[in-house]
Amino acid sequence: MTSSRIVTRFAPSPTGKLHIGGARTALFNWLFARANNGKFLLRIEDTDRERSSEEATEQILVSLKWLNLDWDDAPISQFSRKALHHEKALELLQSGGAYKCFATPEEISDIRAELKARGSTTLFISPWREVPEEQHPELPYTIRLKTPETGKSIIKDKVFGEISIDNETIDDLIILRSDGSPTYNFAVVVDDHDMEVSHIIRGDDHIANTFKQKLIYEAFGWDLPVFAHVPLILNEQGKKLSKREGSTGTELYQAEGYLPEVVFNFLARLGWSHGTEEIFTASEAIKSFKLEDLRKSPSRLDHGILKHLSGQYIANLKPEELYLNLLTFMEHSKSGNIPKAKEELVKKALPLVQTRSKTLQEVWDGLEFVLCETVSYDEKSQKVLESTPPEQIWKFWYELAYLSWERDVLEEYASAFGSELNLGLGKVLQPVRAALVGKTVSPSVFDVMIVLGKEESRHRLASAIKMALEYQRG
Ligand code: GLU
Repeated sequence: MTSSRIVTRFAPSPTGKLHIGGARTALFNWLFARANNGKFLLRIEDTDRERSSEEATEQILVSLKWLNLDWDDAPISQFSRKALHHEKALELLQSGGAYKCFATPEEISDIRAELKARGSTTLFISPWREVPEEQHPELPYTIRLKTPETGKSIIKDKVFGEISIDNETIDDLIILRSDGSPTYNFAVVVDDHDMEVSHIIRGDDHIANTFKQKLIYEAFGWDLPVFAHVPLILNEQGKKLSKREGSTGTELYQAEGYLPEVVFNFLARLGWSHGTEEIFTASEAIKSFKLEDLRKSPSRLDHGILKHLSGQYIANLKPEELYLNLLTFMEHSKSGNIPKAKEELVKKALPLVQTRSKTLQEVWDGLEFVLCETVSYDEKSQKVLESTPPEQIWKFWYELAYLSWERDVLEEYASAFGSELNLGLGKVLQPVRAALVGKTVSPSVFDVMIVLGKEESRHRLASAIKMALEYQRG
């Protein structure tokens, strides 16, 4: 390593969206780099031309940006470095760390079958391992790493401590295919070394690769980076994530109305803890992030926790912040917009909805009562209106006209109204709520009346009376 600076990288394969596991890997690499004044690099592992796509790359970058995981330098395309991979494979060939293998697929499977029959732990031994150059045929070949046949390989992992493997279980892996393309593990090592990556933080599903990669580092005589393998994320039932669960993109969280800060906070807690704090900002996480604190046991993806966290974030936002976040959400989800004429009304209604919402989507849904042009009654509220004597609503509507529009006054009036008609406050307010918002649950009826104003509140009550009368006439 030429520099002692901390360099981490996130190396997604652009074959799909940025999913939860990938996002968490990116986040830990980002946190560690930022915590140590290091660099966080992005390498797009696009050597699989069939499965990689520009759209997936773009989507990954957009999701990282949304999570505020900014990277240093321009993203690197692994495919664009194939000349370097080629050159490095030849270098190993020259130094004797690798050799040309001319075995055909048929020969390989025969050798494999024979080794298996002998009960060998080595899966394949190439007959070309020791054959000198002069005896090589003019045929296509792969380049294989000459791996040690005996002994043990040990990785000192930051999370798992020492893990080891018997070298005889590792085959002489191909580093360059016969078409000249590098294999996955080889490209990763060449790039990580060339990019001066000092710390590799990735999922523990890569441990088997790490053993192979370690042998490639050793064949070159390069210093090893520090490895930290992060345990799997399990689903809510404590099982391995299904294909669908595992491939859920972080953009879904955005679409569901979660703030990026919430998703960041949630992801950071999947395998790491910020003391006992549940809520923390990115800068707080940076201050205390240490690889040693990554947990060895798998973490659980609990959407209940996400929602709870989100509710707390939403509750803590200043109304102006919530308004701006809502606008961004609306713009992204294209699910509607706030007409100019309704802006003030929305701002007035926002605090009422804020305390009752856990996501921006819920905030948006909760604002429906101010955004709608006419109230549409859901089934329950319709029933309430139909079973309330229209005179009761009419009396309420009529008397409201003489009140000054203040919360205390309205409250006092409603209880006097109840006493007069011998009705509990609930019975008084139920049809009013149904008439004003078209639902049986809403923020406080008095608050709703204040926000809507006298004219609009009375207008909605009148419409409800009409509806109830029509119903009763059949
Ligand atoms: N491209 C690999 C993946 O998406 C990651 C490689 C690595 O982190 O070394 O799983």
